Amino acid sequence: MPAFICATCGTHYPVTDMPPAGCTLCQDPRFGVNPAGQAWTTLPEMRQSHFTTFRRLEPGLMGVGVQPHFGFGQRALLLRTTHGNILWDCPAFLDDATTTIVNALGGVAAIALSSPIGYGAMVDWSHAFGSVPIYIHAADRKFVPRLDSAVVFWEDNAVEVLAGITLIRCGGQFDGASVLHWAPGASGQGVLMVGDTLRIHPDRQVGFMRSHANGIPLDTETVLRIGELMADLPFEVMYGGTWDRVIQHNARSVLARSVRRHVDAVGMPTML
Ligand SMILES: [Zn+2]
Repeated sequence: MPAFICATCGTHYPVTDMPPAGCTLCQDPRFGVNPAGQAWTTLPEMRQSHFTTFRRLEPGLMGVGVQPHFGFGQRALLLRTTHGNILWDCPAFLDDATTTIVNALGGVAAIALSSPIGYGAMVDWSHAFGSVPIYIHAADRKFVPRLDSAVVFWEDNAVEVLAGITLIRCGGQFDGASVLHWAPGASGQGVLMVGDTLRIHPDRQVGFMRSHANGIPLDTETVLRIGELMADLPFEVMYGGTWDRVIQHNARSVLARSVRRHVDAVGMPTML
């Protein structure tokens, strides 16, 4: 019996006879059901047409994607450290070849997720590597479609997943939306991985949206708070949630400038 996967966003649902009535994430007003209609697939079906891609991004950091294009084109990251590997966000796809290659890269010690867009095949990935913990902020519990004992609902504003690798809750598009900070990265410079919590735009500035899909900006107060959270973190590079969205240099300064740009554009709240 298959576990159905939303073909629009890549969310995996529990094993059922029939597809769910709808996809919770796509039905959320911040996203939207595909105008062409709700479509479903399964892992066995995807294994006939899709495969995993790997790209070495810098020492100790591997990008993990899915081809042909699937969902929003999300790309996961595999952080390879002496304390174990972390999978940051999760591909919606998994097959034997992927498991074999990732094991050769050191396996997975933990999975950390930015937001529901990154959940993908998280339970399958966890089980494939020994039921490793899946870190999701407790504020986003209602968006977890497939509960499993491997899921760790963390609370507060930060948690160290492995030595030197910290999940930081930003909020924004989702209450529990988070980023992952690696200091220093294997290359010797701090790295901030933002998934879909922050959006790196084509001009390599950072966007802050309540809904990326529908173009609704975040309020100024939240953006200023995110800017303060990031102000003292040491990082040079920022990786977004897709292959083409990376800030290679001075990422912390870029983020600070982007906060000011957003506030200038959206403006401060006015008293009515
Ligand atoms: Zn969906």
